[in-house]
Parts: sequence; C-alpha cells; structure tokens
Amino acid sequence: MTDNTRTAIYPGSFDPVTNGHVDIAQRATNIFDRVIVAVSHNPQKQYLFTEEERLQMTRETFRENGKISVINFSGLVANLARDRKAVAIVRGLRAVSDFEAEFQLALMNRKMNRNVETVFLMTSFKYVYLSSSIIKDAAQHHGKYEDLVPPIVMKMLKQKYQVKD
Ligand code: ADP
Repeated sequence: MTDNTRTAIYPGSFDPVTNGHVDIAQRATNIFDRVIVAVSHNPQKQYLFTEEERLQMTRETFRENGKISVINFSGLVANLARDRKAVAIVRGLRAVSDFEAEFQLALMNRKMNRNVETVFLMTSFKYVYLSSSIIKDAAQHHGKYEDLVPPIVMKMLKQKYQVKD
C-alpha cells in the first residue's frame, strides 16, 4: 500500500447493518481508496445483537467489496482514525434531525484529532426514513422489510425473533 492511500473510517453500531448503511459505505468508496467500516462496542449501550453477530453480519454484507474492510472497536473514533492513518470519518445524514448530534460529535472528534475531517454523506431518498431501530420494530412485529436490509440481516433477525419462513 502506498503512503498516499486515502483511508476513511465509517463508524457505527450497525445493530443491525441496513441498506442505508450500505448506501453510505458505497458512496464513501467513490471518494476514498479504502473504507474501514468500524463496528463499535460501547458497554453503556444496549444492543439487540452481540458484538460478534454485528461484526459477522457487517462482514458478510461487504464481503464482495474489495475497497471495504470491517473491524470491531471500542473507545474513541478519533484514536482509531489516528491508528489507521485515516484522513476522514464518514457519517450518514438522513434528515435534519440527525444534524445536531452529528455536528456535536464531529466537533468533538476534531478537538481530539486535528488531522481527521468528518465527512457527511447524504443517503438515497429511499433510505431517508430507514434506521436500525425501525428495522428491529418491523422484524419483531412481523412487518415487511426485506428490501431494506441485506439477506444475512433478514436471516439473523428471523432467528432472533423466532420467525419461520
Ligand atoms: P451510531 O450508534 O454510531 O449512530 P448507527 O449504526 O445507528 O450508529 O449509524 C451509523 C451511521 O450511519 C450514522 O452516521 C447514521 O446517521 C448513519 N445511518 C444510519 N442509517 C442510515 C440511513 N438509512 N441512511 C444514511 N445514513 C444512515
């Protein structure tokens, strides 16, 4: 790998990964040479899926994209970006409601690591209302959501909620 490889980190909970996340990661590969999808683990957060399950689903989802690698991490994204020599942190924006929290996070990350820029990418119109939480609700109550998540996520959600095909 040459020194001028431009790497971006795309961090998130990915509980579970949705097609909205996939859209953002793919858009990021149009701008950066390499995108590291970083599946975070925060002991203070409650997840539906374990860290291993979130990692497995996310890895499987991006398996065929040579520019994307998937790792797990805990701690500060700013430190991860420094360790991986990333030039950017990628975050997705859906609606204005995402903005305030994301703005705060980006300023904090800048304070902790001045060498990395946060880059916001806008999602496709069809994923504007999509979130991991909505998918979990839909799965739990037997809604229709198969066009909104990768096949592995569909399978794992059915297992989690004991839904038969
Ligand atoms: P976190 O707990 O860090 O917010 P998420 O997995 O919920 O983790 O989200 C990770 C990133 O992906 C965030 O920047 C979020 O705004 C973005 N994101 C989530 N869903 C979508 C979507 N449908 N379209 C675009 N971006 C999204």
